[in-house]
Amino acid sequence: MTEILRSDVLIIGGGPAGLAAAKAASDGTLRVTVLEKSLEIGYPIHTSGGSWTRELRALGVPEQYIHPIRTLQFISSGNEASFDYDFPEICVIDIRAVYQNWAEQASLQGAVIHTNTLAQELLYEEGKLCGVKAVRNGNPIIYKAKVLIDASGFSALVARQSGLSSPSQSYGKGAEYEIVTKSWSQDKTAILLGSAFTPVGYGWVFPYGKHRVRVGVGVLAPYSKADPMPLLEAFLAGSHPLAQKLQPYSILETHFGSVPNSGYIAKSYADNLLIAGDAAGQVLGLAGEGIRLAYDIGMMAGQTAAEAIAHGDTSEQQLARYETLWKKKFARSIDLNARLNGIVSSYTDAQWDRALDILKDVDPEIVLALMKGYFDLRLVKLILSRNPGLFAHNAMKIIRKAVTGS
Ligand SMILES: Cc1cc2nc3c(=O)[nH]c(=O)nc-3n(C[C@H](O)[C@H](O)[C@H](O)COP(=O)(O)OP(=O)(O)OC[C@H]3O[C@@H](n4cnc5c(N)ncnc54)[C@H](O)[C@@H]3O)c2cc1C
Repeated sequence: MTEILRSDVLIIGGGPAGLAAAKAASDGTLRVTVLEKSLEIGYPIHTSGGSWTRELRALGVPEQYIHPIRTLQFISSGNEASFDYDFPEICVIDIRAVYQNWAEQASLQGAVIHTNTLAQELLYEEGKLCGVKAVRNGNPIIYKAKVLIDASGFSALVARQSGLSSPSQSYGKGAEYEIVTKSWSQDKTAILLGSAFTPVGYGWVFPYGKHRVRVGVGVLAPYSKADPMPLLEAFLAGSHPLAQKLQPYSILETHFGSVPNSGYIAKSYADNLLIAGDAAGQVLGLAGEGIRLAYDIGMMAGQTAAEAIAHGDTSEQQLARYETLWKKKFARSIDLNARLNGIVSSYTDAQWDRALDILKDVDPEIVLALMKGYFDLRLVKLILSRNPGLFAHNAMKIIRKAVTGS
């Protein structure tokens, strides 16, 4: 007979969203279970780990896993723009170490993580979602719970099977090598724009300590059907000066991944269900940034689930609070990122060169706020005081209108 395991909160996916939800839901009384299909938490790696030092510190990421970076460089076919920061605002994290740390925190709080466990099919009782059929270490097993949290990332298992999301029309596909080289400064990150790197999307050079550097290329579907791996190979083997600057190197790891890029799903909750992270499209599309959002919003999902169970009501009316919470913090940023991404996805090399000409004169603090998606009154005031001419450009007009209404 198939084994049945019961929990209060069942989380599908042991990435940032799932691990945060697990920690937040584990209040000492609830049974919280996380299913992760991989053999390890945090490996294989499907992401690059670029983020923001202050924000990750605020989320409790241990300092030793945050690699600080002081120089941000944008490189297009015929132009460059560089920004230096006294405080290392940008960082790249040791993915495996951070995710393992998050998993330790969730487990010590009381959650139980089952690796090598693939959730496959949703289970319903009297028309209400109540669990999943899974395969654990090769054996079928049934997991039942009062609330499910779909944190299964790009595959969005529960969201798709329950009809709350459909496969992303717009998404980024990435291929990345983790190389070891003494030639690249560990203090500088580069964003690569234009056809020398990718037809649509961007490339990156992300150092993260001990001479390790992640070099990757992302392609934005459906605008291009190109496979990012041959593009990465062609760039590294080619004569581009940047590729030369990385020489000599060894490739120690190869990473692949996909990230949704069409904005958030219309509804991120239902009876007995919350959807968090990439599964809900909670990504800043311009840079494909999602780790910090997934962790932050995952915590909101875990807290909401725990509160609902404490109230004895896991209906969608009770769980709707979750959507109010995350939208308040991130909806505008995600929306605007999706709109701005729609604009830059058709940029030619000449347009990227011109965009970098404009960017060169922009205050570094403004560049940072734009990259982080902090589209608020503070940003509008900063632009008005330091670079008012920026509001002549379409993208900036869109941001100002969204913030001020005019
Ligand atoms: C190439 C690339 C580069 C990126 N670079 C950055 C970056 O530099 N900075 C940044 O902030 N973001 C980056 N992102 C985006 C970021 O990785 C995601 O937004 C983030 O990982 C979302 O976290 P999540 O927990 O929602 O999903 P994920 O991290 O995808 O975690 C989902 C987990 O669920 C598991 N899972 C899936 N299906 C099942 C199932 N059926 N049963 C059990 N387990 C399952 C998966 O194995 C995985 O561990 C990048 C994405 C890609 C593809």
